[in-house]
Amino acid sequence: MIADYIVVGQGICGTFLSWNLMREGQRVVVIDHADPFSSSKVASGVINPVTGRRIVKTWMIDALLPFVQEQYELFGAEIGASLIRQCNVLDFHPTPQVAASFADRHREDPAYLAYGDAAQYGSLFNFHYGIGEVSPCLLVQLNTLLDKWRLVLSARECLRNTQFDIGHLETDNDSARYQDITAKKIIFCGGAADFDLALFDRLPYAKNKGEAIIAEIPGLPATNIYKQGISIVPWENDLFWIGSSYEWEYNDLEPSERFRTRVEQQLNAWLKLPYRVVDHIASVRPATVERRPFVGLHPLHSTVGILNGMGTKGCSLAPWFAHQLAQHLVYDRPVAAEADVKRFRQVLGRVID
Ligand SMILES: Cc1cc2nc3c(=O)[nH]c(=O)nc-3n(C[C@H](O)[C@H](O)[C@H](O)COP(=O)(O)OP(=O)(O)OC[C@H]3O[C@@H](n4cnc5c(N)ncnc54)[C@H](O)[C@@H]3O)c2cc1C
Repeated sequence: MIADYIVVGQGICGTFLSWNLMREGQRVVVIDHADPFSSSKVASGVINPVTGRRIVKTWMIDALLPFVQEQYELFGAEIGASLIRQCNVLDFHPTPQVAASFADRHREDPAYLAYGDAAQYGSLFNFHYGIGEVSPCLLVQLNTLLDKWRLVLSARECLRNTQFDIGHLETDNDSARYQDITAKKIIFCGGAADFDLALFDRLPYAKNKGEAIIAEIPGLPATNIYKQGISIVPWENDLFWIGSSYEWEYNDLEPSERFRTRVEQQLNAWLKLPYRVVDHIASVRPATVERRPFVGLHPLHSTVGILNGMGTKGCSLAPWFAHQLAQHLVYDRPVAAEADVKRFRQVLGRVID
């Protein structure tokens, strides 16, 4: 089989990359073994324009927000699904100090910040120091996106539902060959698994484990994301996603009793409504030391590329950089220097020394 590109992985990166390449008329084969607990499947799907205790704007957010919203709308129109909606974060201040620093930030730069209507939430939550609102925040239906695109790929006979085995990959300066497929290039979008490959294991990644519980909360409106240390995020089928954790050292990828106990204690103190836990999930975020992604062609192997390292921001960064990478591959347009994997030429060069 002849293709232009082999894409390994159909998380949010492989999904947006394959879609972008196909829109440019490229022949694509996606290889993905349908990990039910991939990062993209476990993620809550929030695009929050501010971050951290200092409530600062996230990297490139003013440009990212309108662009990625349009990308999700275009993608949704193609696959017949509504993929994105505005769903603001209501941040319930846990202490007077946090409320004061929100007020300071709001005075300095009110972009994306407002005040929530405390009177409306008194019957739902216990809180004493007011509510900050982050607006606009966007919520992506990630599992709908992944499932629907998989069906489209399958119908177009572009999907191999199988484990990719690097032992069967052969590359030279002109092509990448995998089993019966010969392509111009192969692009790795395998999330955290890519960092175990000799091609990429010298990149400065910082994988971290995150968990969430899935719960029924009858009576809680699915109109907002509710936050106080943990976040309660509207999920599929009238359920809520509640998390998360950030563990840089972990022994396994299983959901842990420790996390569930901690989250239930927090919920019991904060939420006034009864809830019922129906699931508990965990995955690994493909994060990087510099908090910047790895995008582009391998500095030493011109027919091998990567789209990875989205960390906690896959929903906003993946559509942006998938588009940029597709434009680079098809039209030789540049990849942003801060994201281009070629910045690690020396580090990656040592792999083959
Ligand atoms: C608990 C949690 C909450 C999160 N919440 C958010 C959020 O609210 N907003 C946000 O923007 N980001 C969030 N993230 C981060 C986000 O999930 C990631 O940035 C993003 O999903 C990474 O996507 P990816 O496509 O790179 O990797 P993945 O989603 O891991 O996809 C990789 C794919 O490659 C496939 N694969 C890998 N190796 C092979 C192989 N050898 N053969 C075949 N297939 C293979 C896997 O099956 C998988 O489908 C969260 C992450 C976690 C864990």
